[in-house]
Amino acid sequence: MDHIDVAIVGGGPAGLAAALYSARALVNTVVFESGLPGGQIVTTDRLENYPGFPEGISGPEIGLLMHQQAEKFGAFFRTFEAVEKLEAVRTDWKVAFDGGEILAHAIIVATGAVPKKLGIPGEDEYTGRGVSWCATCDGALFRDKEVAVIGGGDAAAEEAQFLTRFASKVHLVHRREELRATKCIAEACIGHEKVQTHWNRIPTEVRGEDGRVTSVVLRSTKGEPDEVLPVSGIFEYIGVDPKSEIVRGVADLDERGFIKVDDLSRTSMPGLFAAGDVTDRPLKQVVTAAAQGAIAGYEASRYVESKVCTL
Ligand code: NAP
Repeated sequence: MDHIDVAIVGGGPAGLAAALYSARALVNTVVFESGLPGGQIVTTDRLENYPGFPEGISGPEIGLLMHQQAEKFGAFFRTFEAVEKLEAVRTDWKVAFDGGEILAHAIIVATGAVPKKLGIPGEDEYTGRGVSWCATCDGALFRDKEVAVIGGGDAAAEEAQFLTRFASKVHLVHRREELRATKCIAEACIGHEKVQTHWNRIPTEVRGEDGRVTSVVLRSTKGEPDEVLPVSGIFEYIGVDPKSEIVRGVADLDERGFIKVDDLSRTSMPGLFAAGDVTDRPLKQVVTAAAQGAIAGYEASRYVESKVCTL
């Protein structure tokens, strides 16, 4: 079985930054990418808040650049190979993937999270054309337009309020008549003059014309007639699911399934690091994922060096 220094699971900004730091420290680094380079950001049309790109940059473009940069410093990529299992074997980690198994001195899990979807007609067709899961990324595209925010948690309430900076009106659509969000966040949102609430409503269809969203159909949970809400954007905040399955039972997760890490990206298990959206760190942004990845790559390379010195 091959024995490598650092295995990184996930090829999004966290995994790619980790690979850059680990490979550049001359530590033998392999990245498992189950999809295209960039992870979640490949679905972002324009990334306008990553430092260094005043005109913005497309998600796929920055994903490819990060990949190339890590590769330039010696990271080896196993693309389209999904890791199925991680197992601690004495002081090493066994990584089982589609094509076989390897041993690694250290692992960095950067598998990300997936926003929950409504699963309604039109949602997939208009993803990136009005349907979004990221107000921070896409909000500015809806200047002086009406948008809908779906959900009643902290994320929906906070992002609805954020969207009032751009949108002429924000329709907050929630399936109950009371927000789940923390009281002060909920009050600030509902009290905003640009926010209009739609209680007891569930979206059932996204409609559009010429490739852009034009409305969302809302069904009443109280038996009232359907409502067609004319909006240009629909922001879904109905929760996220961390992609932490391979760590379940291996290291500590929080109650929502996110991997618990400390400030040095260490998990509860020696030699197992985690970075980016799969962790319990609060701000889920490309720049913070990259920063956590850098810390994880640096710490993992130091861990490997100290381990090899004591062998
Ligand atoms: P969340 O708290 O799980 O809220 C999800 C919301 O979406 C709920 O209001 C839920 O309705 C609604 N929902 C779920 N499935 C739905 C569906 N199929 N159709 C329509 N509505 C649906 O998720 P979140 O807001 O993303 O927050 C996740 C975690 O991060 C929470 O623990 C939250 O406190 C935390 N967070 C904290 C902050 C902060 O402290 N500043 C900011 C963001 C997030 P019900 O209420 O009826 O279940």
